Amino acid sequence: MRRKLAAGNWKMNGTGDSLAELAALAESHGAPAADILICPPATLLSRAADTARGSAVAIGGQDCHANASGAHTGDLSAAMLKDAGASAVILGHSERRADHGERDAQICAKAEAAIGEGLTAVICIGETLAEREAGDTLKVAGTQLAGSVPASAAGANTVIAYEPVWAIGTGKVPTLEQIAEVHDFLRAELTSRFGAETADSIRLLYGGSVKPSNAAEIFAVSNVDGALVGGASLKAADFSPIISALE
Ligand code: PEP
Repeated sequence: MRRKLAAGNWKMNGTGDSLAELAALAESHGAPAADILICPPATLLSRAADTARGSAVAIGGQDCHANASGAHTGDLSAAMLKDAGASAVILGHSERRADHGERDAQICAKAEAAIGEGLTAVICIGETLAEREAGDTLKVAGTQLAGSVPASAAGANTVIAYEPVWAIGTGKVPTLEQIAEVHDFLRAELTSRFGAETADSIRLLYGGSVKPSNAAEIFAVSNVDGALVGGASLKAADFSPIISALE
């Protein structure tokens, strides 16, 4: 039985004041029936970890470098994220793929590094609008899944987030049938690569304009084990009902 996961991606939002939202979230979900992860910007990681210490909220990074250390100005290694208090890291988000030209092989190497440090890799995949309109959604999802998920993936160290690029931050959400089609496909692809036991243990999140008003119906879709949430994770008042919809 996969435990549900509500993961929040704060992206490039938040300063010290924002930790009050994290504190409020931790306070209102003392013993949740679902896992909760907040991924603040790197500048807030250690303070967020301090704020969340002793609570049910885990803290994660938004990216890491594939190397352990070295001449990579501005980058952070998986060990650094862990040292700052992270237990997970988002990898291959479509904004990183678009803004930083990240490709599947690089994301896979980052995931290997994260897993090697004991972090949970939250690996993002998803098609653009042009790819969906061309009928290539499953082809893109399959290629990104195969290329960015390392051989070491297992339920304990890897989460896959299906995030259609056109649904991120736009208010547009695929139909429930479209979400089911991709999630069922991803489960089948994982099964053929890793076998049923491992595939059934890896959580599949949906991401893209999840809000309190649509969370419950999305969470009822086959093979949806939770959500990766951007905008609606910034305020406890928005994220809390999304967590509750998973419980
Ligand atoms: C995201 O950034 O991963 C995301 C899903 O954003 P939003 O919820 O704002 O669409």
